[in-house]
Amino acid sequence: MRAKAKVKGPEKVTLVPKAKAQRMMDILCHTYPEAECELNYESDFQLLIAVVLSAQSTDVTINKVCAELFKYYPTAKDLAEADIEHIKKLIKASGFFNAKAKNIQACAQAIVSKYNGVVPTEHELLTELPGVGRKTANVVLGVAHGVSGWSVDTHVQRLSRRLGFTKETDPYKIELALQKVFPKQDWSKLSITIIWHGRRVCFARKPNCAACPVNELCPSAEA
Ligand code: SF4
Repeated sequence: MRAKAKVKGPEKVTLVPKAKAQRMMDILCHTYPEAECELNYESDFQLLIAVVLSAQSTDVTINKVCAELFKYYPTAKDLAEADIEHIKKLIKASGFFNAKAKNIQACAQAIVSKYNGVVPTEHELLTELPGVGRKTANVVLGVAHGVSGWSVDTHVQRLSRRLGFTKETDPYKIELALQKVFPKQDWSKLSITIIWHGRRVCFARKPNCAACPVNELCPSAEA
């Protein structure tokens, strides 16, 4: 009989005081001054669809997928009227393509029928669209409209705990905790900076602590 694979439990979290949290984020912002959303898009609609598709995928893959998708269906009206099987084919590489195809087409149809093809800019209205949750709405409003908000993706979830900002595991509770630690005007910039650090150094499986600029302050730094 094969031995059961060991399931790794959540990492132990040591909370840090606000001042230390701010110091670590100052260092990371200084390390990645060019940090920005890495998705390619030419309109609010394309950004929204790219963010919806990016769940469980990488920005590199989504940029390739969206380059094809938006070649055929650049606007909400185009996507709303598209053949669903063609959408599935175009977005297959993004993963979970059946559900994602239904979601992005339903989202496009709602934008056309309710908002005349224009993506709404109110958080509440955005989150009413099919497939659009808090994280997606925060990314769209932060990146396209400068409205500060936390984008709690997988990197922000992991690093917020490793850096000692919160012990929470639920994305919404993490967002609320981060709101209390950092000033509102910085939320979008800090989200993107954490995402960049998670992609480049503080990897999920093997964080590269030896090369990390906050190594001496981070409570999870490995020797
Ligand atoms: S020291 Fe290690 S665990 Fe802490 S942020 Fe850097 S890479 Fe991540």
